[in-house]
Amino acid sequence: MTKPHAVISGASIAGLSAAWWLRHTGWDVTVIERAPAFRDGGQNVDVRGVAREVLDRMGLVPAIRAVNTTETGTVLVDRDGRVRAELPSDGPDGATAELEVLRGDFARAVLDALPAGVELVYGETIDEVQDTAGEAADGADADRVTVTTGTGRVLHADLLVIAEGVRSRTRDLVFPDDDVDARDLGVTMVFGTIPRTPTDDDRWRWYNAVGGRQVHLRPDPYGTTRAILAYAGGDGLTGVQRDEAVAALRRRYAGAGWESERVLDGLAVSDDVYLDELTQIRMRRWHRGRVVAIGDAAWCVTPMGGGGASLALTSGYVLAATLSARGPGRPSRRDLDAAFGAFDRWMRPLVDRIQGIPRGIVHFAYPQSRLGLAARGVADKVLTSALFRPVAAKLTRVADSDVPLPPIVAHAV
Ligand SMILES: Cc1cc2nc3c(=O)[nH]c(=O)nc-3n(C[C@H](O)[C@H](O)[C@H](O)COP(=O)(O)OP(=O)(O)OC[C@H]3O[C@@H](n4cnc5c(N)ncnc54)[C@H](O)[C@@H]3O)c2cc1C
Repeated sequence: MTKPHAVISGASIAGLSAAWWLRHTGWDVTVIERAPAFRDGGQNVDVRGVAREVLDRMGLVPAIRAVNTTETGTVLVDRDGRVRAELPSDGPDGATAELEVLRGDFARAVLDALPAGVELVYGETIDEVQDTAGEAADGADADRVTVTTGTGRVLHADLLVIAEGVRSRTRDLVFPDDDVDARDLGVTMVFGTIPRTPTDDDRWRWYNAVGGRQVHLRPDPYGTTRAILAYAGGDGLTGVQRDEAVAALRRRYAGAGWESERVLDGLAVSDDVYLDELTQIRMRRWHRGRVVAIGDAAWCVTPMGGGGASLALTSGYVLAATLSARGPGRPSRRDLDAAFGAFDRWMRPLVDRIQGIPRGIVHFAYPQSRLGLAARGVADKVLTSALFRPVAAKLTRVADSDVPLPPIVAHAV
């Protein structure tokens, strides 16, 4: 029997999870990644909710524990670094989750565990997608999706999985504009690795300043510190050179206090500064013909929503599970429609729950005035008090579901 063939574009958490699960369920898999080699790096993410079960089914919980960021809790600090509130981090889904990991370490753990036979192609992108149904003139089966890469390589497949992250180009090539709603959340985040100092500890320390500015410091397992500047507003810094960006950030963070000067000095010499104006992706449908989008490409929830890495991992599993239900061999369009429908029904409630963050949350999370900051301080105290702790704990319970994961029907590879 001819094995079905999937082309997956994007070799991060979603794409590699799909590759892992599709290969285990009898597919030939080719993964295309734009970067010239595996993309390491990235900031602190976590594994929450059902993603823990997916990870467990992959046998990868020990691998993730081995590269845990070492973070033990989350505290809100004042201008002098004094703790003014502690967010609940007890249990697997607290503010600091049980499984905290750097994005690159997470993706590498999946990469290292890929079953034999997954083809990985680096330094390539998809330039053209042709999704054709029916028979070719010579009677051959022409019902397939054909992708042409930037170097002219042509691949015929039964399925194209787009897992290229929030700014996916292939998604925009395949899906009409009407299907993709990219919402600017009005928040910019700047990430970088800076030297660790003796004042850094094993907690995520989070500081709010007036002017809608935040500073975050988090531990990593490599003896350095992960710093984040997050602020309300965008000043068109995406894509600008590090030195120019840091100069603009120095103006924005003038007088912000706490460790902001140290973070800016660190970013000024850091070689992994990454700046992102947060964009939420909402798609009316995630599939079209033989093409499906998963992970951030399909539903970027942004770090403001949380759970993006967990949804990305889970989506690879759910896709393979819903496809496995149709039995072995090459799937017809009807098979794919049924599988994509089941995929949508399972994943969409999880995505919707995270994306439903109220619009006013940016004003609350990033207060502009002293009054706003004081109100935020009171709210933090109330939310983290013993009485409201269960409510606060619920806020970090994302990517979870009461509906069991769909089963995988395994076929011999
Ligand atoms: C600072 C920060 C903190 C976060 N915190 C959390 C958290 O606590 N919990 C959580 O669950 N999530 C968190 N996230 C989100 C999480 O990192 C993402 O949701 C997750 O990485 C999405 O995975 P993905 O595979 O869909 O996309 P990505 O990780 O974005 O990967 C996309 C891949 O596709 C490749 N690519 C892009 N374009 C192309 C192309 N045209 N052709 C081929 N390849 C292409 C890219 O090089 C990349 O390898 C955080 C993110 C950030 C930035």
